[in-house]
Amino acid sequence: MAFGRRGSGALTLFGAAGSEARVMKVATVHSRCECQAYLSAELDEQRVALRGWAVDARKQQLAAPANTLGAERERFDVGWACPFCTRNTLRSFTASALAFREPASKAS
Ligand SMILES: [Zn+2]
Repeated sequence: MAFGRRGSGALTLFGAAGSEARVMKVATVHSRCECQAYLSAELDEQRVALRGWAVDARKQQLAAPANTLGAERERFDVGWACPFCTRNTLRSFTASALAFREPASKAS
């Protein structure tokens, strides 16, 4: 909606090389693939998929490339390429329902 120009006037966004101290928060979304694999993805505050993974019934975990479609909308979709069945699984999520938190230090 109204991001892109935050604050007023001459705000300069730091590039990737900038030293932004702010911790980026992430939200994790979950879904189920048709093949019963459990799909998860981590989204940043712009709802861009940072990473995705899938866990099957035997608890085997594989990377599952995820991407966000319509990230700027309240209702957006996350697509996964399921590594177990190779389906492209698309699920809808509601932006306001996401719970953002600071990335935990690798709790597994
Ligand atoms: Zn699958």
